[in-house]
Amino acid sequence: MSDVTPAPFPTGTILGYPRIGANRELKKALESFWKGATTEADLEATAAELRTVTRDRLAGLGLGATTSAIPSNFSFYDHMLDAAVTFGAIPSRFADLRANDGTVDLAAYSTIARGVGDKAPLEMTKWFDSNYHYLVPEIGPETVFALSSARWVDEFLEAKAAGFVTRPVITGPLTFLYLAKASDEAKAGFAPISRLDDLLPIYAELLAAFKAAGAEWVQIDEPILVADTDTDRTEVLANAARVYQWLGEQTARPQLLVAAPMGSLGDALPVLAATPVEAIGIDLVRGAVPVGVHLTGKVIAAGVVDGHNIWRTDLDAALATLKAVEALGATVAVSTSTSLFHVPHTLKGEDHLGAELISWLAFADEKVAEIVALATAYTEGEAAAADALAAARTALASRKAHPGTNRADVRDALAAVTPADLERSAYADRVAAQEARFHLPELATTTIGSFPQTPEIRKARAAWAKGELSDADYETAMKAEIASVVKLQEDLGLDVLVHGEAERNDMVQYFAELLDGFDVTVNGWVQSYGSRCTRPSILWGDVARPLPMTVRWAQYAQSLSDKPVKGMLTGPVTILAWSFVRDDQPLGVTANQVALALRQEIADLEAAGIGIIQVDEPALRELLPLRNADKAAYLGWSVNSFKLATSGAKDDTQVHTHLCYSEFGEIIDAIDGLDADVTSIEAARSRMEVLPAIKAHGYERQIGPGVWDIHSPRVPSTEEITELLTLAKDSVSGQQLWVNPDCGLKTRGYAETIESLEHLIAATKAVR
Ligand code: GLN
Ligand code: ZN
Repeated sequence: MSDVTPAPFPTGTILGYPRIGANRELKKALESFWKGATTEADLEATAAELRTVTRDRLAGLGLGATTSAIPSNFSFYDHMLDAAVTFGAIPSRFADLRANDGTVDLAAYSTIARGVGDKAPLEMTKWFDSNYHYLVPEIGPETVFALSSARWVDEFLEAKAAGFVTRPVITGPLTFLYLAKASDEAKAGFAPISRLDDLLPIYAELLAAFKAAGAEWVQIDEPILVADTDTDRTEVLANAARVYQWLGEQTARPQLLVAAPMGSLGDALPVLAATPVEAIGIDLVRGAVPVGVHLTGKVIAAGVVDGHNIWRTDLDAALATLKAVEALGATVAVSTSTSLFHVPHTLKGEDHLGAELISWLAFADEKVAEIVALATAYTEGEAAAADALAAARTALASRKAHPGTNRADVRDALAAVTPADLERSAYADRVAAQEARFHLPELATTTIGSFPQTPEIRKARAAWAKGELSDADYETAMKAEIASVVKLQEDLGLDVLVHGEAERNDMVQYFAELLDGFDVTVNGWVQSYGSRCTRPSILWGDVARPLPMTVRWAQYAQSLSDKPVKGMLTGPVTILAWSFVRDDQPLGVTANQVALALRQEIADLEAAGIGIIQVDEPALRELLPLRNADKAAYLGWSVNSFKLATSGAKDDTQVHTHLCYSEFGEIIDAIDGLDADVTSIEAARSRMEVLPAIKAHGYERQIGPGVWDIHSPRVPSTEEITELLTLAKDSVSGQQLWVNPDCGLKTRGYAETIESLEHLIAATKAVR
């Protein structure tokens, strides 16, 4: 290291900030660039402006402009893609997109993210247990690692030119390689991590470039260290020791913060602490204060402000945590537990939520203010931040005392639930009753629920929201849509119909708007992937159902047909997974409250003559804890909440569930445990891969493996579907097998929907 005294770590910082813009500026700029309406220079200009605004805002909120407290963590699309592009790890199918110097321009970068023609984009998958999706790098023996982009360093220099010293944020080599997949060229059994030694010199080169540019601190994110992977943990820890020992020994480098968001570092903390890295970021929202670790000489960026949820921090508790970390010998800095890109930008403009609820919340900007207050209180004493501490106490007390967070009716109803309430009668009895009621053929055909959300439907909903369309006219428009969807399905000859979900803006928000205990924001967008954002609902209180939510739509659809119409609900786990959920009680309790509301809804659907009811749980797998030791408890409460929701159904009511994935592996017992009569899953792309395992497991109930990949407009041929069904029949009997698409059709157009469903019916007839 250089001979000047190194800059101390800032007393307060955040691990990252939303990249999309307070008004989704980046989304708009990207989409207009993709449409060809704007140029690459326009997109660059918007991005630069966004970075300027962000730096100024963060400095304005109190993060030191020149203390490395402000992270440089911009991304045009995704941070894993940025790492791939920076290290030259571009799959060979996109090799021709690179310029002679190995760089890619924003058009090429977008193509790798989104695909072109028959060149598939990088695969997209969930970032740990969050709702963010990253692009999966493809690494093989042929990958030539080379520093191939100056963007990260340029972002630092751009800030420097504006008078800032920021802290560049990069994805660490372990996270990058463990989350990568083997390239097309790689032989079976190839593991990207086997290229670690080839990649490390590029990190060293990059660190040297940051140093030369004047960076004092660089943040290296290694969330992989908080998760169990397919690789033996001992091996992961050995790699962690080797990587950070080696990078630490590099002389031309800034000081290093290795940050481990999303969970507890556990046994990886002493490993990192034994390396020369100067600072370690630990998640103290999900993880507890470590015990028995010596941290003398290290900076600990103590993640006491939740970067992953939107509740206002208990500042007193956070201060106590900081002091406990200090007792381990560390120099303590105040930080967020994760990057703030998981939460919306600001509570400004959300006044409709009401002053009281707002006082319980903190979005990204409000969290930065909390960090600044905590850092002040920690370094200068509580008196120096007395107002902030007092305000936090008041808000916390109001939240605790609010009748909506502790409703006797909801608590009593839950307390009255007995284990017997969770069980339906034996499957054999249910099947007999359902066969007698519905007389469905072998290989019964159905869809997953939604039909195309046409521009007309969206327009009607927008007009209704603005008050330009009356309730009655909106109702009429939706009913007309339902009637046409029912007619279409009858004409096609499907066996079990759906109403098409035209009236639903979103499969979670629709219910959130009708249940007590929820609120929704107007501008609370968070990045889901690339330019796509979602607006999670806020589940703040005890959940109850004041009125039926879906019954009149299902009943109307059923009135139009003699065939059974399937009622459609979103399951408790999915409602939790795609909302910001209260953190003042165990998730399982909240899930059960949602389940009881759904149980009432199912009873009302039954009373209205709906005999088939589907409860979607596409998020069941995504909330699976990152550490193996925590999985059983999660699967216990999540499966129970589904059973609580559905087990009140009569024997002759057929309960369906839909899961959006088919990687059942470690959760196959749980899926069996749901005890649904029919389970539909995604299976077209994997060519029914999961079915032999389901057969081997002895799964006896019915299953609908998807035969049409609905993620693109491509229409599957009758032959293709016939082949898939024939494959499926190798593992599952005709009685057990249902025929359906992979998922809902809301993102599809009508032309491909009709043709594909015609093929699906023709193939079914051929196989029957
Ligand atoms: N019933 C929903 C639909 O068809 C299910 C969506 C999902 O699984 N994500 O759209
Ligand atoms: Zn799905």
